[in-house]
Amino acid sequence: MGGSPLLHITEQDLTCYNTLGLKSTARSFLRLHSTANLSALTDVVPRFPGVVVLGGGSNVVLAPQIDELVIHVETRGVTLVDQQADAFIVEAQAGESWHHFVGLCIDQGWKGLENLALIPGTVGAAPIQNIGAYGVEQSEFFHSLVAWDMQRGEQVEMGPGDCQFAYRDSFFKHADPGRWLILAVRYRLPHEWRPQLAYPDLARHPGIALAGA
Ligand SMILES: Cc1cc2nc3c(=O)[nH]c(=O)nc-3n(C[C@H](O)[C@H](O)[C@H](O)COP(=O)(O)OP(=O)(O)OC[C@H]3O[C@@H](n4cnc5c(N)ncnc54)[C@H](O)[C@@H]3O)c2cc1C
Repeated sequence: MGGSPLLHITEQDLTCYNTLGLKSTARSFLRLHSTANLSALTDVVPRFPGVVVLGGGSNVVLAPQIDELVIHVETRGVTLVDQQADAFIVEAQAGESWHHFVGLCIDQGWKGLENLALIPGTVGAAPIQNIGAYGVEQSEFFHSLVAWDMQRGEQVEMGPGDCQFAYRDSFFKHADPGRWLILAVRYRLPHEWRPQLAYPDLARHPGIALAGA
């Protein structure tokens, strides 16, 4: 136990926090439920040898013991922040399950992300490796994101150019480890929708071939 009285930091077994089920223990673990107290978070960070941001744990190989401060992102919420003439701008908090977010968008009639359904993990991790599946990458619908700069202790907004998306790659993969905490991601989902079925595995699917006949 330790840290600021406003921040509850504990030791935590991480075996259930990574999809490989690797046995791992965080000496200092913090659940981020809210983005209201990020300055206090920045204040405690220098007490640790570093920061590890953890989402759904589906793309990490955890060491048996982690001495850095592990921040588990658990913020939730999806909001329609703007309705433009040709698109919906939808914002999801970083701790939202990616697949849940995609399903919610489809239910609301905000289309475009369907090919990315079932990708494990959280919304906050999606820009990190620019997730993609079946011929679509999240960068095609990405609008902007809100991140906390752990070094400077300030909130910043980043557009597609800042994020430098490439195939399974982004600016964040080359930045100082633990510097950027993604808080929320916005997607621009056009009103006019066409399913993207050109990817070979989809194009060869018997149901899709029939539908296109
Ligand atoms: C069975 C399986 C299938 C998969 N299929 C696909 C696929 O089809 N396409 C694809 O692209 N990927 C796929 N992946 C990879 C994985 O789903 C993605 O990389 C996903 O985005 C990881 O999300 P996560 O929340 O689990 O991230 P984690 O594993 O928790 O973290 C991954 C990285 O992102 C960082 N990170 C996480 N959240 C934040 C945040 N809020 N702010 C800053 N940094 C953060 C972590 O520090 C870490 O470096 C698959 C993985 C599995 C296990």
